[in-house]
Amino acid sequence: MRLLLVEDDEMIAETVLGAMRRAGYAIDWAEDGRAAELSLGNGVYDLVLLDLGLPKKDGIDVLNAYRKSGGAAPVIILTARDAVDERIRGLDAGADDYLIKPFDLDELAARARALLRRRTGQKQPVYAHGELTLDPAAHEVTRDGAPLPLVPREFALLQALIEEPTRVFTKAELEEKLYGWGEEVGSNTIEVHVHSLRRKIGAEQVVTVRGVGYRLKRC
Ligand code: CA
Repeated sequence: MRLLLVEDDEMIAETVLGAMRRAGYAIDWAEDGRAAELSLGNGVYDLVLLDLGLPKKDGIDVLNAYRKSGGAAPVIILTARDAVDERIRGLDAGADDYLIKPFDLDELAARARALLRRRTGQKQPVYAHGELTLDPAAHEVTRDGAPLPLVPREFALLQALIEEPTRVFTKAELEEKLYGWGEEVGSNTIEVHVHSLRRKIGAEQVVTVRGVGYRLKRC
């Protein structure tokens, strides 16, 4: 899952980026309206968190242009308490939800999960593969029914693999799923996460495809 945060207030941005990364999402940051439009043009985002009062281009205009160009990712507006008109304009322009600043980070994460769940069209999206299950909403992984405590990056790695269990992922593809821009990614970072994930879920669960990357074992 890859998110875009559009927010010009650096302090709010750092807080949201940190919270969403801890929750296991890759998230990028655009700090003005033009940067947001450029980023959204990539079409890689599953969810957008959008401030409205932005330098260079207003958030409502960004949203209007995004929807007109066919952009379909859910959008949560982050807005000030007194800006009722803005909120209404935002919803009319195609936002899916809004949060009033200052907002609770757990609530933001919960609303994000709800929208992402709706987007994947599954009411209760629990992935099962062999003896493993992964529940994105509850952030839970089990093996033979026993819960496994995974750290966020291990969780995100397993989620990427289990969502497309027959696909072989390259390291670059996994890096893109696990990290936002500007995050330091060492050359062996994915190997390290694979190693620690294998220790927790069983070494045989993640298969190395030599010269290509990784996939889940067949079952
Ligand atoms: Ca602002």
